[in-house]
Amino acid sequence: MNLIEAVKAAGIVGAGGAGFPTHVKLNAKAEWFIVNAAECEPLIETDKYLCRTFADRVVAAAMAISAHLEAEHTVIALKRKYTAEIAALRAVIDKTGVPVTLVEMDTFYPAGDEQTLVQLVTGRSVPERGLPLNVGAVVDNVGTLLNIEAMLTRGEPVTEKYLSVVGEVREPIMLRVPIGTAITACIEAAAPNLKEYAIIIGGPMMGKVVADPEAISKAVVTKTTGNIIVLSKDHYLIQRAQRPIERIRVQARSACIQCRMCTDLCPRYLIGHQMHPHLVMRNLYREPFIEDKDEFLHAFGDAANCCSCGVCEMFACPMGLSPCKVNEYIKVKLRERGIDVPKNAEPQAKKRIEMHRIPTARLIARLGLADYNGLHAHTCIDLAPDSVFVPFSQHIGKPAVAVKHAGENVEKGELLAAAAEGGLSANIHASVSGVITEISAAGATIVRHKEA
Ligand code: SF4
Ligand code: SF4
Repeated sequence: MNLIEAVKAAGIVGAGGAGFPTHVKLNAKAEWFIVNAAECEPLIETDKYLCRTFADRVVAAAMAISAHLEAEHTVIALKRKYTAEIAALRAVIDKTGVPVTLVEMDTFYPAGDEQTLVQLVTGRSVPERGLPLNVGAVVDNVGTLLNIEAMLTRGEPVTEKYLSVVGEVREPIMLRVPIGTAITACIEAAAPNLKEYAIIIGGPMMGKVVADPEAISKAVVTKTTGNIIVLSKDHYLIQRAQRPIERIRVQARSACIQCRMCTDLCPRYLIGHQMHPHLVMRNLYREPFIEDKDEFLHAFGDAANCCSCGVCEMFACPMGLSPCKVNEYIKVKLRERGIDVPKNAEPQAKKRIEMHRIPTARLIARLGLADYNGLHAHTCIDLAPDSVFVPFSQHIGKPAVAVKHAGENVEKGELLAAAAEGGLSANIHASVSGVITEISAAGATIVRHKEA
């Protein structure tokens, strides 16, 4: 089995992002292979933990993937302040003599954004709505690398996940759990300080806010879950996420002072993309009245290039407005009107781009998270829940298709659902050994066999 077939069989998807199937991403040749260990979002430290603990495996996997890609440059990019992780990786690189370069980055947001990272490492801007491969680069997250290494060396598919739990808990913890573990079990392991709480699955900027107790009780760890933030229900971030779009639109129309801070600090604008959120905000009052497609494209086309990083609304805007949410709203309107926004294939980064980067510490203060900054998880706890619910859609593309039935016994690592034919999809495996008590198009519940 070659690397692509092995990665596909193991159901490996991007562990740090939206879950793009890795066998598709790696089916290429590239000049650069970049390991993303920069931990994009504030407060998350999972990739740091993995680099520190499994430095030898990270370097070995980086070399294996680079060889497959026939890459001329193999880079691990991480923040300069990660001194212990840099020391661990450098020790392995020096000992093995492999040609891996460590790129040490300043602490800014969004350092781990794939396109920001590619521009910083290679000096090339990824085309609008393009891929790093368009400029000769492939980027993989540290967690993805370790999954590839586990498959190549031990034949293990993706069945478990490392994640951190931070925020309103006794102290931050790092967990290793089977895929499908209840999020509430992870939170209980961290001893929450509050009886009632809301959560963010992922980071504070781009993570998913879940405030409804029933939704929290149903949420499970997937292949892309890297962090859970526990917060009080009245925390600024939780309240802000629940504002209805109608209110956001009214506020945008009435309070935007056209200072253009949202544009000047936008990471996509900075790498040269056609991205001027202040102009989208300026035109918003006209949106219902524009009938001509070209006029609509001219007024709102920029919104198509927004990556929803949140810089504009969580940091830049002095009026507390939401250009990011407005862009998401406009993207839907562009689709509904059948407007195809042209792409600039050769964007050029702005001069002195580094002057416009946002220091993470200031962002954390702005987000109301300063109380949780600087606290670290030092050890990793293994959770072994009695049952798991393994979703069949943990990736971009079509859900996997069940190959098992209720009542069947499965072993950990056995195929539960196969990647759907004809498009992006990924295999899903049993994360524990046990009996399938329920299975549907959405996923399977497995009750673990009791230890003898
Ligand atoms: S969310 Fe805001 S800052 Fe981020 S890409 Fe979109 S417009 Fe730019
Ligand atoms: S930063 Fe806020 S006030 Fe300034 S132009 Fe953008 S949306 Fe308007």
